[in-house]
Amino acid sequence: MSYKIIASQCTGCSLCEFECPNAAISMKGDTFVIDPKKCTECEGHFDHAKCDEVCPVPGTCVKA
Ligand code: SF4
Ligand code: SF4
Repeated sequence: MSYKIIASQCTGCSLCEFECPNAAISMKGDTFVIDPKKCTECEGHFDHAKCDEVCPVPGTCVKA
């Protein structure tokens, strides 16, 4: 149960990193990655995955 970032679409803007309530997102090379062990799909925090909501590139933060 986690989200993932499609690396080929990620611009590395870092918007998602600071919005994640579980600090599950970090930089890896030029793009960002989600640690599936930390990601809860925002359950208990938001109705929808925050990373997907704030990401300016549609379809980049998706269910793994
Ligand atoms: S779905 Fe929520 S918990 Fe998971 S990486 Fe995105 S912002 Fe973080
Ligand atoms: S908000 Fe989207 S484009 Fe920006 S770093 Fe996160 S996944 Fe990449």
